[in-house]
Amino acid sequence: PDIEQNEDKQIVESVRGEFEFCNVTFCYDPGAEPALRNFSLHVRPGETIALVGASGAGKSTVAQLVIGFIRPTSGKILLDGKDMNELDLRTYRRFISVVTQETILFDGTIRDNIAYGVDANDEDIFRAVKFASLEPLINSLPEGLNTPIRENGSRLSGGQRQRIAIARALLRDPRVLILDEATSALDVDSESEIKEALEKLMKGRTSFVIAHRLSTIQNADRIIVMGEGHVLETGTHAELIAYNGRYAEMYRKFTMLN
Ligand code: ADP
Repeated sequence: PDIEQNEDKQIVESVRGEFEFCNVTFCYDPGAEPALRNFSLHVRPGETIALVGASGAGKSTVAQLVIGFIRPTSGKILLDGKDMNELDLRTYRRFISVVTQETILFDGTIRDNIAYGVDANDEDIFRAVKFASLEPLINSLPEGLNTPIRENGSRLSGGQRQRIAIARALLRDPRVLILDEATSALDVDSESEIKEALEKLMKGRTSFVIAHRLSTIQNADRIIVMGEGHVLETGTHAELIAYNGRYAEMYRKFTMLN
């Protein structure tokens, strides 16, 4: 909210999705411990980056910086080679979709909720519905896509809400995706279907996945293991298992518990 929208910022007309974090330090409050310290990371267009690490490690802070809700306290972030501080955030954000644990639904029909913020025709909407495996739900409702859902969609399950978020994200056809993976388990069927839809959604788009459960990140191009605002380890799942450090330890614990 405190980021000003200056008129002299550069309008963003297209995004390739290359990000370069150059020595980024971020403090939420002056004098507080930094949430990120000298964080450097080069993300290629279309790459899937999984951010893992204990609670408070700085994963959400990285996502907030990508969306432009906050700006680095020091250091800079380049988007396609341009300093994000110089970019008009409103036009930049047309190229981003965020799928979080809590899908925000509002009073309106399922169609309105899917087509939120975009001009979409029926063909586009049906494609998104199919993509997100929402057909069974919609076919089971007498009013189909025109079924009203109340604010917060209390009649919908967690999996159904997430599917609406996926359909919504696809309609925007973003270049950049932020996925905040669900912490609590969905039922097993929804989980594997949603994982599949998310993987399709990430294809060809630069994606940052905040991974709480390690089951969904094994196909990430790169896993960034964070601790106290630092990068501790980076690599693919196989590389990090072979390295036998923090990630391997987290993974062993995770597989024991699941
Ligand atoms: P993660 O997503 O890995 O759990 P965060 O990026 O949310 O970690 O948090 C990193 C650090 O920043 C933590 O110490 C957290 O307490 C702090 N922090 C996060 N959000 C805020 C905020 N809005 N105001 C103040 N401190 C915050």
